[in-house]
Amino acid sequence: MEARCDPWILRGRVLCPRPDRPAFEVLEDALVRVGADGRIAGVEAAPADCAVPVTRPGAVWLPGFVDTHVHFPQTRVLGSASGPLLEWLATSVFPEEARFVDRAYAAAVAEEFCAALLRHGTTCASVYSSSDPGATEVLFAALDRAGLRGQVGLTLMDRGAPEAVLLAAEPALAACEALAARWHGHDDGRLAFCVTPRFALSCTPALLRGAAALADRLDLPVQTHLSENPAELAATAAAFPDSADYVAVYADHGLLGPRALFAHCVHLTDGEWDALAAHDCAISHCPDSNFFLGSGVMPLRAALERTLRVGLGTDVGAGRTFSLRRVAAAAYDAALLSGTAITPEALLWHATLGGARALRLDGRIGRVAPGFEADLVACDLPPHVVDRAALFDALAFRRDDAAVGAVYVRGRRLRGG
Ligand SMILES: [Zn+2]
Repeated sequence: MEARCDPWILRGRVLCPRPDRPAFEVLEDALVRVGADGRIAGVEAAPADCAVPVTRPGAVWLPGFVDTHVHFPQTRVLGSASGPLLEWLATSVFPEEARFVDRAYAAAVAEEFCAALLRHGTTCASVYSSSDPGATEVLFAALDRAGLRGQVGLTLMDRGAPEAVLLAAEPALAACEALAARWHGHDDGRLAFCVTPRFALSCTPALLRGAAALADRLDLPVQTHLSENPAELAATAAAFPDSADYVAVYADHGLLGPRALFAHCVHLTDGEWDALAAHDCAISHCPDSNFFLGSGVMPLRAALERTLRVGLGTDVGAGRTFSLRRVAAAAYDAALLSGTAITPEALLWHATLGGARALRLDGRIGRVAPGFEADLVACDLPPHVVDRAALFDALAFRRDDAAVGAVYVRGRRLRGG
């Protein structure tokens, strides 16, 4: 992708995530100036006699959605109803992920994956590849060509899965280092490499320790799964008898810290939540996946009252959609079930700026403000959606009537007009 775009001015209704709380400032008729470097140069109210035409009549603009947890090699098994977790991995996931040693297959799915992100207005994603370094390289190249933003990890597995998807610790960590050398920081930080142990059960202690050491040495982000399903919890406790609890498994191997992003966190104890907070870890909340696999309901309040950084994740293919808006709706339902309601507005904030914070990209993206990179989406709303509450309700719950129309990353249009 070209690093520069022509300067342009967006005129329209713009939702600006607030930096101080999970809410938006609504600008009814704004001018957003985008510079040749793809950054927002200015945001102001359009004057009464404004000569700039409305960019996309009927649309509301907001920062691109940030998917904090998605599996590229599960694109074609999205919605496979073979759960719960461990059965679903064995039946639907591992056989599919084994196919990604075939570069042509990986390349075809990578194109589908990027197209699916764009179709749903996702401009940035934290992605698990398969355990195959070649497939991971193919995915990076596809994301680069598509102009998308994200971090990607080779999924580390050296035990607890079929031979076809295992890679021993030494070659796996060497492959991570090579991929990081090639892609981490690519295109002024648009792409990054993320150290990605699948979960504790799929990794030997040596691999977990090696992954942590690599992340420390190269200052790389880390992502993994945590406390998703009761059978997984029991198996993890049996596999790591010296660790006090599930969070301690990762802590004991050096994987906790501000660079770490943990998906699910459904069954944590108060002490485990406290440990995550003490280490400033981030959380990817994946309620649609949790419903689909019958994993349970993450107590969102436990994370928020400890001021943990929380983004939303589709967790495709246990999640049944690439739409962060649908995940926001699932999070709304999950919050009701857990006894603590949350507004659609707050959840859409977690799907944008909250996700950027979880990935530690909130100095670059997630806001519509001067200096931020212009990652923007336009959703086309019916004309009767006027007042503030209706706006957020429509974005979260009326997706059939409010399609994603246009998608920009760093000021460059990737989809729509
Ligand atoms: Zn996952």
